[in-house]
Amino acid sequence: MFTLLSMDTTSLPSSPARRALDTEAVHAGRDDLARQGLHAPPIDLSTTYPSYDSRGEAARIDAFATTGAEPDGPPVYGRLGNPTVARFETALARLEGTDSAVAFASGMAALTAVLLARASTGLRHVVAVRPLYGCSDHLLTAGLLGSEVTWTDPAGIADALRPDTGLVVVESPANPTLAELDLRAIAHSCGSVPLLADNTFATPVLQRPAEHGARLVLHSATKYLGGHGDVMAGVVACDEEFAGRLRQIRFATGGVLHPLAGYLLLRGLATLPIRVRAASATAAELARRLTADPRVAHVHYPRIGGAMIAFETYGDPHEVIAAVRLITPAVSLGSVDSLIQHPASISHRVVEETDRRGAGVSDRLLRLSVGLEDVEDLWADLDRALAPVLRGAGNCATSHNAPAPADEPATATALRPSRTR
Ligand code: PLP
Repeated sequence: MFTLLSMDTTSLPSSPARRALDTEAVHAGRDDLARQGLHAPPIDLSTTYPSYDSRGEAARIDAFATTGAEPDGPPVYGRLGNPTVARFETALARLEGTDSAVAFASGMAALTAVLLARASTGLRHVVAVRPLYGCSDHLLTAGLLGSEVTWTDPAGIADALRPDTGLVVVESPANPTLAELDLRAIAHSCGSVPLLADNTFATPVLQRPAEHGARLVLHSATKYLGGHGDVMAGVVACDEEFAGRLRQIRFATGGVLHPLAGYLLLRGLATLPIRVRAASATAAELARRLTADPRVAHVHYPRIGGAMIAFETYGDPHEVIAAVRLITPAVSLGSVDSLIQHPASISHRVVEETDRRGAGVSDRLLRLSVGLEDVEDLWADLDRALAPVLRGAGNCATSHNAPAPADEPATATALRPSRTR
């Protein structure tokens, strides 16, 4: 059923001229197909590759150990690289405007590889800005990989840098508050320390952090890049020097992406621009309606747009989660269907309560990932789910956009860079 042809890297045309993002989304990573007489990209499920030339293999493995560059010629072993995954990597690098990209089994595996790459050079100190995705925060805070983290505001990054700082980590828009950062200013504050920008929420359709000075652009490809809720993956777009190190770490630690996932991600990229734009238009309209709704205390929607909305209700957010019917009450985001979740209970549960609240993740915050459904159907579902809030809240209709309810921590209203509307 699957075509077991490898990507013929030797016959690839030299890097195509710069094309528009929508064109790259459809063609990048596929430029050799017509020459091979193919239309759909082949899926190469091989775990190993025959070779009668052991001396040649030794030389290729030595070369990989030196630079981490993808071995010339046919692949050697699945953990060193896979042609179908390589197509996705090529395409994502084109979209993010970087030399290279290295794919992993999940977003967390991608972050792990970056941290290991830095720690292996003795640079174990990380400077990071909250909020980050809960598990990214946890990985840094718990020091599971031997790193030590200093949390700071964007303005404090330069002062937080130490001689052993190997990485600065930020998300923009951030999960889950949608706080936005000035990536160019932050990259400047980092000096020679690599800046890792998690671009999962914006996608290269809305923002290309490498153009602002981020050396590493990380995605949970599980989200918009895959786009259909059926692939778990991560990827780091970066310069070729860093990519080589990441390939070596991936080879040594094994967090590889399965070729079928690589195929699905490449397919997902083709519709990424239209999916993101359509969902963003719906999200902007829902954000507008939520802002005008007396049952909603605050709405957070990024200036750059996107398909994510965060909002705080006057009533019990758990009731909203329990009441949705069209929208799926589930963690994750970026799928064709809409998902809603309560970050303090799920995505950011692993972050210590004080840190969570300090980062603006209030106990009343709900995070909505808007999909491709009709806006009126989504609004009808939200409107119904919010209804008990109005009944329970008494006079809240007169206190729209008033200060947060008494049981909400004061910091929750201070979602600095994110627009509250
Ligand atoms: N980064 C962000 C912004 C995320 O939202 C997530 C997961 O939700 C991750 C990284 C981790 O990605 P994964 O779940 O693919 O490991």
